Amino acid sequence: MRTPIVAGNWKMNKTIAEARELVNALRDELTRVAASGKAQVVLCPPFIAIPQVAALVKDTPIKVGAQNLFWEVKGAFTGEVAPTMLNEVCDYVIIGHSERRQYFGETDESVNKKVQAALAHHLIPIVCVGENLQQNEAGQTQAVVGAQVRAAFKEISRDDARGIVIAYEPIWAIGTGKAASGPGANAVIGLTIRGALADLYDEATAQAIRVQYGGSVTPKNVAEFFAQPEIDGALVGGASLVAADFIAICKAAVE
Ligand code: PEP
Repeated sequence: MRTPIVAGNWKMNKTIAEARELVNALRDELTRVAASGKAQVVLCPPFIAIPQVAALVKDTPIKVGAQNLFWEVKGAFTGEVAPTMLNEVCDYVIIGHSERRQYFGETDESVNKKVQAALAHHLIPIVCVGENLQQNEAGQTQAVVGAQVRAAFKEISRDDARGIVIAYEPIWAIGTGKAASGPGANAVIGLTIRGALADLYDEATAQAIRVQYGGSVTPKNVAEFFAQPEIDGALVGGASLVAADFIAICKAAVE
């Protein structure tokens, strides 16, 4: 049985004061969800708010994640944040989000280096993969997503692979209000993503790895995703910024 994981990606939103306010609004309800043991809940604020958020959820089962990291542990890398800095305050780290691939030069190679660095420093990677609209319409989803998975898991051992979380996020669904269909996302995750993992490792490993869906998840459409057998939770952007919406989405994971 794979335990679903619901992660809120706040992107570049919320000052420290606003982050505190949001966590205070989320904490009691999300603590109940996470304490049920039926789902894990992760908040991924901007770097600067992470220590504050971590302190606020310290005595709860709610986990904290970062939205990126660099693969070196220290040195002359102005503006970057090391895994050894993050693992003091985080358990998770999002890697390869499409916005980082699109705006900040993230490549399949850098994603793989970051996954290796995260694992080496006891951070759980949430690795994002997904095709853009053009690729989707050209029937290239399987090729694109399969290649992203293979590149991200390059030189990752079977044991380490089992601890990685994948987020299938079709780019055309992120922040657009046009979510994938539940069965559509289920098919990509089951056939393409687990298929690539089975080729890389074996069927048991492919079945053990948690794969979330992400892309315009809302309280209204979330049940359709959580009803799918291949989907293990959600990576939520916009709706994770609204306390009532994120609470409703997290609750749906344990219903
Ligand atoms: C995301 O940021 O990863 C995301 C899926 O955003 P949204 O839920 O707003 O589409």
